[in-house]
Amino acid sequence: MPDFPASLVEFQHQFPNDDACAAWLSAARWPSGFRCPACAGAKGWPHGGKPFTFECAACGKQTSVTAGTIMHGSKLPLLVWFWAVYLMATHSNGISALQLQKQLGLGSYKSAWLLCAKLRRAMVAPGRAPLAGLVEVDEAEIPLRTKADPVCGGGGRSPQGKMLVAGAVEVENDAPGRLRLAAIKDFSAASLHGFVAANVAPGATIKTDGWPSYARAPDVRHEPHVVGAMAAHVVLPWVHRAFSNAKTWALGVYHGLRRQHLQSYLDEFVFRFNRRRTRPAAFRSLLAIALVRKPLTYNMLIMPEAQG
Ligand SMILES: [Zn+2]
Repeated sequence: MPDFPASLVEFQHQFPNDDACAAWLSAARWPSGFRCPACAGAKGWPHGGKPFTFECAACGKQTSVTAGTIMHGSKLPLLVWFWAVYLMATHSNGISALQLQKQLGLGSYKSAWLLCAKLRRAMVAPGRAPLAGLVEVDEAEIPLRTKADPVCGGGGRSPQGKMLVAGAVEVENDAPGRLRLAAIKDFSAASLHGFVAANVAPGATIKTDGWPSYARAPDVRHEPHVVGAMAAHVVLPWVHRAFSNAKTWALGVYHGLRRQHLQSYLDEFVFRFNRRRTRPAAFRSLLAIALVRKPLTYNMLIMPEAQG
């Protein structure tokens, strides 16, 4: 992958215009030169009429640098995409669609929201390795924001309704490693075993508060610590801190989360948490995933079953 900027000033220097962004994407997609996706031909040249498009010398197929990626078919300039990636990936709290609309001068809230929603889908790396070693696992309730609440402005939280979330954090030398968060439908053994199986490697040890649903989770060793409700944060400090930071973040940046999009916001929190020590590099990893994620339409993004 090509280099990434270490600061805003470097970003501006490296990406002054759409051409610079297209050159970066082209180098990332075809590190050893253009390769035609149709016939694998290695010879092509820039298309005269269409910007950022190559034409294959062998079969004549035209391929845009964004074809088949999450940026495919977008009407937004590449520079706007790059700015959005930079702001979403490197800012310690991320940025809401409303803030992004203002910062980038986008015409509508909908196009800002769509940009954010597409990038959020690029926050889960395909084939990421499951958590290993000692892993704290717990579950939490987070408040739900209903449809009736205003999209922007403070205080838009509904007192009714909670969403259920399972969390897991690797613990190495008394410090947190990688995090996973998932929306779950209940705290049953089926739901929690499913969460553990999807996120924790076979042979790992899960440390829990002794909630009976975790018992006999397959393929992992279980270390239950049965405690009163008040003391769970003492036994499972890192997963509790992650839940608490995620709740504060959801309220601060988004004024609460909606059930429909819960998993994609959890993915965004996890992406940033797991790259907290390498923020500038997060710009590159977000773009790298955006290049391999399939294009999504607005309708696919507003339907919860389009997750993942
Ligand atoms: Zn070809």
